[in-house]
Amino acid sequence: EGAATVIDGKAVAKQIRDEITIEVSRMKESIGVVPGLAVILVGDRKDSATYVRNKKKACDSVGIKSFEVCLAEDSSEEEVLRSVSGFNDDPSVHGILVQLPLPSHMDEQNILNAVGIEKDVDGFHPLNIGRLAMRGREPLFVPCTPKGCIELLHRYNIGIKGKRAVVIGRSNIVGMPAALLLQREDATVTIIHSRTKNPEEITREADIIISAVGQANMVRGSWIKPGAVIIDVGINPVEDSSAARGYRLVGDICYEEASKVASAITPVPGGVGPMTIAMLLSNTFTSAKRIHNFQ
Ligand code: NDP
Repeated sequence: EGAATVIDGKAVAKQIRDEITIEVSRMKESIGVVPGLAVILVGDRKDSATYVRNKKKACDSVGIKSFEVCLAEDSSEEEVLRSVSGFNDDPSVHGILVQLPLPSHMDEQNILNAVGIEKDVDGFHPLNIGRLAMRGREPLFVPCTPKGCIELLHRYNIGIKGKRAVVIGRSNIVGMPAALLLQREDATVTIIHSRTKNPEEITREADIIISAVGQANMVRGSWIKPGAVIIDVGINPVEDSSAARGYRLVGDICYEEASKVASAITPVPGGVGPMTIAMLLSNTFTSAKRIHNFQ
């Protein structure tokens, strides 16, 4: 029984941001282009506002220019579509992100479809997802959170090829693309969702688990094969009277138990979370490189 390696997403994300900072300034010096990211925020969800603020801060820190449009909760779908199309046509914008979830009176599908595929830094356009799912096709962008999970495995030299991977959750933004990415890396992948019977029997077979459920401490130590690698995407508030805010954040995995069984594990916070934004910056820079044909 050992203590698992803690996969330090915060440190890796910092390293990636430093790499991007250097690349962004090299681009600016050699061709005079500053990468630009446009974020569209609709409505007044507090969590969404926080995510958008953090994305803007992260852009500033690496020298990416950020553009922001905030629309009222009762805006029409047409207004959102107009913003998207304005950014599609704006040559100083290389990435467009529509902060989800959108207000319920809007058709998310229509809006995501409107983002130009070459500026779809979130990787949510169905063409990009479709290419991700197909052999021999290359998406222009891969969704940031699952990409961050895979990047953590790579940077910790954790092999994926031939491994048994289990993804818990099948959302369009995390679980499903995570499973597709693992498969592209030659893992044998099983997906667990809310209708799966005896999930613990399936997770016990896994060499790698990526969990994106949204249930605090759902995965117990007994669900985990000794030596498995655990990537915990879940961010769940639990009551904690000793915390200043009255709550703290935990993952889907019971960290205390899992860290005694696993060989490596991401903490929450400080694991996947910081990687998501680092991947967004990386996708934005990659987009600017592609659009301006910069090597
Ligand atoms: P969704 O709610 O969209 O999807 C949750 C998935 O988990 C669904 O596929 C659902 O199954 C499945 N599920 C729910 N309950 C169970 C259960 N008891 N057993 C097995 N599967 C279950 O969530 P997201 O994918 O958007 O997010 C998941 C978590 O990741 C959240 O905690 C979120 O906060 C976090 N997150 C973190 C990010 C980051 O680190 N940057 C980014 C995005 C999300 P079904 O399909 O059958 O309903």
